[in-house]
Amino acid sequence: MLEPVVTVAKALEDYRPIVGDEPIQELRALAEPLRGARVLNINATPFGGGVAEMLSALVPLMNDVGLAAEWRVITGSVEFFSVTKAMHNSLQGMAIDWTADMERTWLIYNDINAELFAESYDFVIVHDPQPAGLLEGVLRRNGHRPAGTWLWRCHLDTSNARPEVWDFILPFVRLYQGAIFTRKEYVNGDLSGGPPVFTILPAIDPLSSKNRKVSPDIVKGVLLQCGIDPTRPIVCQVSRFDPWKDPLGVIDVYREVKEEVPELQLVIAGVMANDDPEGWEYCQRTLHYAGEDEDIHVLSNLSEIAVGAFEVGALQQAASVVIQKSIREGFGLTVAEAMWKGTPVVGGNCGGIRLQIRDGDTGFLVSSPEDCAARIITLLQNPDLAKRMGRAGRESVRRKFLIPRLLRDHLSLYASLVAEKADFGASVPAHDKERLTLAIS
Ligand code: UDP
Repeated sequence: MLEPVVTVAKALEDYRPIVGDEPIQELRALAEPLRGARVLNINATPFGGGVAEMLSALVPLMNDVGLAAEWRVITGSVEFFSVTKAMHNSLQGMAIDWTADMERTWLIYNDINAELFAESYDFVIVHDPQPAGLLEGVLRRNGHRPAGTWLWRCHLDTSNARPEVWDFILPFVRLYQGAIFTRKEYVNGDLSGGPPVFTILPAIDPLSSKNRKVSPDIVKGVLLQCGIDPTRPIVCQVSRFDPWKDPLGVIDVYREVKEEVPELQLVIAGVMANDDPEGWEYCQRTLHYAGEDEDIHVLSNLSEIAVGAFEVGALQQAASVVIQKSIREGFGLTVAEAMWKGTPVVGGNCGGIRLQIRDGDTGFLVSSPEDCAARIITLLQNPDLAKRMGRAGRESVRRKFLIPRLLRDHLSLYASLVAEKADFGASVPAHDKERLTLAIS
């Protein structure tokens, strides 16, 4: 059996005071015809990164409204996760050396996980490229299509994907009965001959320990524990140690701002997910780049003072400005998390961040380090503007990016698929059959 992830129970009713009556009633009505539907989510890691973050709220809420939802993770070696991280990078547009050995590693582990797949479900949602080959493995083992509707949920912006990896996984993706992307624009090409594409925007859980408001005393306690001075301004970026999140660029920006605001402190908090071996190396590089500057605090779940979800939330709340200086970003949960706390955000003008921040109104979008530094200085020197932006940001997250809306989008999609009794992926195009046979043999 694939490893199950245990989640903490959640109740939809608890969200009523935050989102209002109407969305809750709508959700209950949507869930009714889906009562008892068995839904399985499969991804690569139980913690670290946005997918795990969302599933830990979405799965218990699905159960609360009457579905039978589960979350399971695949198994893999360090070698496999190095390969999948390279795939991730390539699908986001980075040139990598993609070899036959890497393909083999990916196929072997997808096969191992296919063997661990048991039970039958009404809906199986497979997240991201790591387990994308699972359906093919199950199909080959069973000799027929497994029960239920299988959907591939891609959280990446693949619009600039390199052809070597994209062409390799495409035949596996085409077997699914639907593909879910964050935006239509993130699909590389049109998946022609493949499954229909649906779009769902991510969301955050306002009631998680990370996103609940905490008292100023507790925030102060967390800062002191992390060696941060609560009386001086803080800029903070929370994200995995990953080149796309540009932690080194964040340090450059901080150095530029510090010339103008000498009392400034920088916090870079980055979790080490277990499907991201590259993170270790990148964390070391970040530490090295930070050098001896005592006002730069590089924290992780594995540092001396371990920062978990609660501490991350407190840091986002305490920051004068949160940065998300990503170069590519399907959707920045961290952006929504900071905005929800009323903290002004300066985000890289890319991908999903563009949907999240209305430039100059709910935050600032920036395209260069100089621009980023200038916006941070503006916010640090204009507390009224910072407050106004923070308030506008929080309201926009309340309307668009909270978990009940994500639940609604999932339920609507499932209901529409049930209504259509869709059998989109039943026949495999001949050229894919050929490519799959070649890949697997
Ligand atoms: N995160 C965290 N601790 C860290 C770094 C990240 O809890 O040290 C969380 C962060 O709060 C967010 C998620 O991991 O909920 C990252 O999601 P995002 O969409 O921003 O980026 P991804 O990692 O999925 O590319």
